[in-house]
This record gives sequence, C-alpha cells and structure tokens, in this order.
Amino acid sequence: MAELEGLEFGKSDFVLLDEVTMEQFMDNLKLRFEKGRIYTFIGEVVVSVNPYKHLDIYGKEVIEDYRGRELYENPPHLFAVADAAYKAMKRRAKDTCIVISGESGAGKTEASKYIMQYIAAITNPNQRAEVESVKNVLLKSNCVLEAFGNAKTNRNDNSSRFGKYMDINFNFNGDPTGGHINNYLLEKSRVVQQQDGERNFHSFYQVLRGGSDELLKSLYLQRDPAEYAYTSQGASVTLASNNDSLCHKAVMAALKVIGFTTEEISSIYKILSTILHLGNLQFTSDGEHVVLVGEDTVKHISELTSTEPENTRKALLYRTVATGGGEVIEKGHNEQEASYGRDAFAKALYERLFAWIVGRINSVIEVKDYNPALHGKNTVIGVLDIYGFEIFDNNSFEQFCINYCNEKLQQLFIELILRQEQDEYQREGITWQHIEYFNNQIIVDLVEQPHKGIISILDEACLTAGKVTDTVCLDSMNKKLGQHPHYTSRKLCPGDKTMEFNRDFLFYSPGFLDKNKDPLFQDFKRLMYNSSDHVLKEMWPDGKMSITEVTKRPLTAATLFKNSIIALVDKLACKEPYYVRCIKPNEVKSPLLFDDGRCQHQVAYLGLLENVRVRRAGFAYRQPYARFLQRYKMTCEYTWPNHLMSTDQEAVEAIVNQHGFEDDVAYGHTKLFVRTPRTLFTLEQERAAL
Ligand code: ATP
Ligand code: MG
Repeated sequence: MAELEGLEFGKSDFVLLDEVTMEQFMDNLKLRFEKGRIYTFIGEVVVSVNPYKHLDIYGKEVIEDYRGRELYENPPHLFAVADAAYKAMKRRAKDTCIVISGESGAGKTEASKYIMQYIAAITNPNQRAEVESVKNVLLKSNCVLEAFGNAKTNRNDNSSRFGKYMDINFNFNGDPTGGHINNYLLEKSRVVQQQDGERNFHSFYQVLRGGSDELLKSLYLQRDPAEYAYTSQGASVTLASNNDSLCHKAVMAALKVIGFTTEEISSIYKILSTILHLGNLQFTSDGEHVVLVGEDTVKHISELTSTEPENTRKALLYRTVATGGGEVIEKGHNEQEASYGRDAFAKALYERLFAWIVGRINSVIEVKDYNPALHGKNTVIGVLDIYGFEIFDNNSFEQFCINYCNEKLQQLFIELILRQEQDEYQREGITWQHIEYFNNQIIVDLVEQPHKGIISILDEACLTAGKVTDTVCLDSMNKKLGQHPHYTSRKLCPGDKTMEFNRDFLFYSPGFLDKNKDPLFQDFKRLMYNSSDHVLKEMWPDGKMSITEVTKRPLTAATLFKNSIIALVDKLACKEPYYVRCIKPNEVKSPLLFDDGRCQHQVAYLGLLENVRVRRAGFAYRQPYARFLQRYKMTCEYTWPNHLMSTDQEAVEAIVNQHGFEDDVAYGHTKLFVRTPRTLFTLEQERAAL
C-alpha cells in the first residue's frame, strides 16, 4: 500500500481544512501543486491541477497500489476515483459515471485517458482474447478521435473540439465487453476558419506531413500545409509538442486495429483531401456570371468524391430552387453565395466524416449477443470528457452552446451532490446546517424553456421568412427577456450588439442566426448521395430527396444540441456519479506558475467551496440500522450473537459506544450516519480479525 502523505504536502482532503475559507482552500491547493501533489480529495471528488510536466505516478506499481483499495487508504489520485467507480459497479451492480470537468487545457482528456488505462489494467486478469480485443479497440479509439476531433488552439495544443461521452459495458465478471461513444457539437467552423496562432483539426496536418509520397500523389496533395487556405489561416502550421508525421502512422495503425477496411480508410483520406482542395477554389465574375478559378481543382474534387465533374461544377455555382408555383429552376450564385456554399459544404463534409467515424467505431465495440439471463446484469461505467466554460474575446455560437452545456452539468452536480445530501438529512431528521448555494436552474431555464427561452427565440427568428438579422433577433430577445434577473444586454460598438447573461458565460454575437440555421444547399447533398464511393454516399442519406421533397425544416443547431445535452444529462442522472474537477494553473502552460487569480476564479465557478462545506457538514456513510447491525454485531459483546435491546437503533448505539465512536456519528430516523470513512474502516478490520 502506498504511503499516506505527510503534512508537509498540505491536506490531502479539503474536508480537513481548519476552516473552509477561500484563502485556506487556495493555500492548500497551491502548496500541493508546488510539491508536485496535483490531486486532492473533497470526499470522493478529486480536484486535479494540471502539472504541465511529466509525473511518474501512473505506472504499473501505482496501479497495483490503488487496485481494490478503499478511497481513504491511499493518497488522492485519479486511480482512486476510477477504482471507486469500478468497485461500485462490480460489487453493487450499479451503473456509474465519471464526470470530468474544467476549462480548456485543465487536463480533462489526459485524465480520461489515465482512467481508461487504469480500468484496462485492472480487468481481464485471465487475458481472455475477446476481452483484450475490446479493450484494445476502446484504447485505440482515443487516438483516432483525437486526430479528427482535436486541434491546436491558443489555450491548448491538443484541444478537444468536441464533447465525448463513452460508456464502457461490463459483464458480471467485471470485464469490459464493449462500449458506445457519443460525440457532441464538433466545432466545425474550424474547418474553414482559424484564429491567429491556431490550427485546423490535426488530421489535415497529419496526412500532409505523414502520408507517403504515393498517397499524397493519389490525392493530388502537396506536402506543405501552407499551400492550403484551410490549413494556413492561423499562420501556425507547426506544433512543437506534437509530431504530425508520427501521429499519422499511429492513426493509420489504429484505424486498422479497430477494423476499418482499406476501402474505408481510402475514403476517409479522399474526403480530407477534397476539403483541402475545396478551400483553394476561388470564384470570380466574368461580368455576367460567376465562374470558377481552377478547373483542375474541380477535376480533382470530382475524382476524389467519385462524382461527375459537370455535376460538381454545377453544385458549386448554382442552386436548385422550387418556385411558389411548384416549378424547379436553377439559380446562379453570386460570388459571395458561392464562397459561402463552398465553406458550408466543406464543414458538412468534415462533420459527417467525424460522425461516421464515431458510428463506425461504435459498430465495432457495441455489445453483441449479450444475454442477461446467461451472462448476468450488464453494467456500465460512463466517462464524460466535455469542453469546459469558454470565454474568449470573440465569443460565438459555439461558446454559447458550450457554456450552456456546462450550466447543465453544474446543475446536475448541484442536484446530485448538494441537494440529495441535504434532502436526505432533512428526511432523516438529522440536524443540518443549511448550505446556501447558487441554484443555476434559473439560468438553464433562461436558455432552454419552450417559447420563452433563448433557444426558442433564436429558432423563431430562424424560421421567420425574409431577412431577420442578428440585430432584429437581439432586439426581440431584449424585449422578451429584458426583465430577467440574469439577462443583460449591452452595446459593444455601434451596430455591433452583444448580450451576456449569468456570470458572463453566455453571449450573443453577430453570426448567431446563421450558425443556428446552418444551411447547406440541397445540391451538395444530392451530389454526395449520387457519388459512386459507397462510404461517402452512406454519409449523405438525406441527399436522396429532390428539392421539391425538402419541405420540412431541419431542426436548428441549437435545438439539436439542446436535445443531445438533455439526453446526456438524463443518462448521467441515473448513474452513480464520480467527479474529477480539473484546474488549469496558468495561461502559459508552465509547470512552475500557480496563478492565484485564475485558479481562484475556477475554484469559485466549479463550486468547490460549497462542495467542501456540504461534505464537512455531511456524513460519508449511512446505513439502515438493521444492515449495520447485521454486519458489525460480532464486534460488540452486547449484540453478539443476539441483542436484548428493544430496537435495532439501540443495539447500533451499543456498538458505537463500545468503540468510542460517539462523536463521529448521528442517528437518523432509519439510518446511522457516519462522518468519516475511517470509522467504518476500523470496524471492517475488527470484523475481519475475528
Ligand atoms: P480541452 O478542453 O481544450 O480539450 P483538456 O482539459 O482536455 O482541454 P488536456 O488536453 O487534457 O486538456 O491537457 C492539456 C495539456 O496539459 C496536455 O496536452 C498535457 O501537455 C498537459 N497535461 C494535462 N494533464 C496532465 C498530466 N496529468 N500530466 C502531465 N501533463 C498533463
Ligand atoms: Mg480535451
């Protein structure tokens, strides 16, 4: 068993602070960070500070230290939480989930990978081949998803630009049998536009830098990312900490291990190169019509997408519209429309490719032929690694969605950890000091309520015929929500309006309406549906419809996102939750700097102080009297083998008094409440020693 830490490393659980104040909390967090102790408990929650350097704390021996141990037996670690979630799942057949939160660069994805590695390491002791293969695919899927879903941003060289929730299924032995990945809101605008210093998704640079000469030739690609408009806008094509070329090889190998066929892998790279070529297409006017610059490029695109060059050219320059009279006509784009259409097409190609890859991985890892009657209950551990709050200089639709999602998850945290605790103490008649906390349901309602919420107002504006501009939409929002205590609206600069609400986390900015509507001309969909590349065609089933059949308006981006997040929260809410709260120590990726202001800000909005207060006021364990008595009656002379007291509660009191635990417990109407886990630990040891 690993040594428990000495006091020179600070308190290993914030519950042990002398006083719960921000000052003490921050002092302890900082001391531990400086001593290389990046993990600290709040009860069962692990607070993690990104060390920004390699720490030798994830190896085999450490895994063995944590395997099967109780949370309080070892120093705080991700492995302790992973083990707790695993034990609860295995011993009590409970579905559990591990929710990892924190802002960009705080270390969520790294944490999720360590947790998965831990679970992989402690399962399948008999090395059964089919379980090993499931584990291998689960682990390899990370590499592929990171290549296609992560990018260098100014905050993080390997920033996840999508949310990920992964269920791992287990059989009654506690061995993984499969899994399922849900992805949320890929930041597809990055495909066509990157801010200064940022990059497009890694996948593009990886194929350019790491693809063989032969592959590149077949894709009509040049090696230098600076050649392509879509990979060079951020003027940052190189990544110091990441070797694109090596990654390409790793991704290729991972795709093969997962089971992607040669044809599928070839289609993936054809789609990536199509996007790069699209980005270099220009439009100009010959005075009368819009014309394409770069006939060769169109030819390449047609070849790569297995479509007719004439059809491709047409889809880029015209759109089919149905007139009021039911007539179908072809309307030429102006230059602006043509560029807009091209970008929308490129984004959609990438988004669908990503979704298809996730779906394809799921088809490999989904649990097949599981018969509960034969194999016992199929249990699940879910791991959630989803973007944290984001506040940029230019906040857009994506930040609105991301921050809304975080409000929802925070709400779930409050609900599960704080409210459930308080409610139970009240029910049981335990004296309880009420903890004030910010209930952010009001913010969630502000965003998602039908008819009155921000998303509804946005959708309404999107559905209104004619040209509703962002300004008109914002005015309507101001009118409807102006009285809301968490809604403010302000003007940034003349003509450029913005709104913000709650703790400055949600914004409205120009471009919202368009991103919400997210239009893509039907012509592109049909072009792809008619491709003779089966893999590509499969991604565009909605291209089957002709323009006259396209009557129903698709759901808006915000509504789709809202629905997926509500489904996610429902999924999490029925599992036993474990939390990892990640903190980013500074903005400059330094292992040495603990930026007090930035850290305190994160501690505050993650609600960690409230969490400590609840935990301290609360009790770590509770058990109905009868069950407690049954388990520990042999440790007390008055209760073994039978007690003569009139109630189970009195018998339990006898056990508690004999051990001198009076100060550590409280008696509820039906249950005994135990403050510290160590008390139970002692009882367990005594029981085992008998
Ligand atoms: P985003 O929301 O942008 O995806 P994130 O919270 O997932 O951010 P990570 O990608 O996990 O952040 O971490 C950012 C970087 O910090 C990593 O690439 C790594 O360099 C470093 N890092 C994070 N956690 C650890 C750790 N436990 N040990 C060493 N380095 C770490
Ligand atoms: Mg990440």
